[in-house]
Amino acid sequence: MASGQQNPEQAEIVYTMADEVDLSQVRVVLMHTSHPGNIGAVARAMKNMGLSQLYLVQPDLFPHSMATSRASGADDLLASAHVVETLDEALADCCFVVGASARLRSISWPVHNPRECAERMLEATDDGQVALVMGREQSGLSNAELERCNYLVNIPANPEYSSLNLAAATQVLAYELRMAALARVEIKKSASKKDYRLATAAEVEGLYQHFEVALTDIKFLNPASPRKLMRRLRRLFNRAQLDEMEVNILRGILSAAQGQKYHYDKQDKS
Ligand code: SAH
Repeated sequence: MASGQQNPEQAEIVYTMADEVDLSQVRVVLMHTSHPGNIGAVARAMKNMGLSQLYLVQPDLFPHSMATSRASGADDLLASAHVVETLDEALADCCFVVGASARLRSISWPVHNPRECAERMLEATDDGQVALVMGREQSGLSNAELERCNYLVNIPANPEYSSLNLAAATQVLAYELRMAALARVEIKKSASKKDYRLATAAEVEGLYQHFEVALTDIKFLNPASPRKLMRRLRRLFNRAQLDEMEVNILRGILSAAQGQKYHYDKQDKS
């Protein structure tokens, strides 16, 4: 390698591009956090995953140099954090609240895993603000605080050692929120990219019948026992969720194999 040229394997590549994910309606609420370093580490975990709304209910020490240093480049989240006196204040404008709990409690409250929970939280953002409430380092969330939540989320950790560090737990939950949000972005993108509508049941049935006739014509299918092959082909194509154009391409291929011309029947198009 010529001197002065950077080895791309050694260089840390930092991509900077606009975040497609919008998690601005999801807030993280930290209850009575005792270690300021944890607040900083939570801010970092949040910013990495595209979350920005941090609420602190009576933190023991904040602002604090330990919070700033653990936040690293996420100190903007600390600067814009809402410091409030009560959980009620932090949740006032939220339509959906999830409490993170390391223990499965004696009070029976609906509990979900992080993946299910992230999906439900994102669905709720269609209606308004949503909150993820994280408990104290020493004692978690009180029963009164849990009762403010629509659901609890539990990270299914090692049952013999299930309590994660506050920022580590926030990281796992924020990651699931990001994955759920990315899935939503993908669904929107593929919906807008779609150039043909999905084939109707009648069109797909027409294809299967065409398969049966054409495969018999070319002697691939024994008409005495067509069942297994046809079922397998149905399973294969049903998995693919064919669109109208794909049905036409396949029928064109079948016609060509039969030595015929395939005329797209507009009547089929519903
Ligand atoms: N000792 C406390 C746990 C404190 S950990 C207790 O036994 O409850 C601090 C916070 O991190 C918890 O209140 C919870 O909000 C979150 N947390 C830690 N581990 C978790 C887990 N396995 N699942 C969900 N949240 C967890």
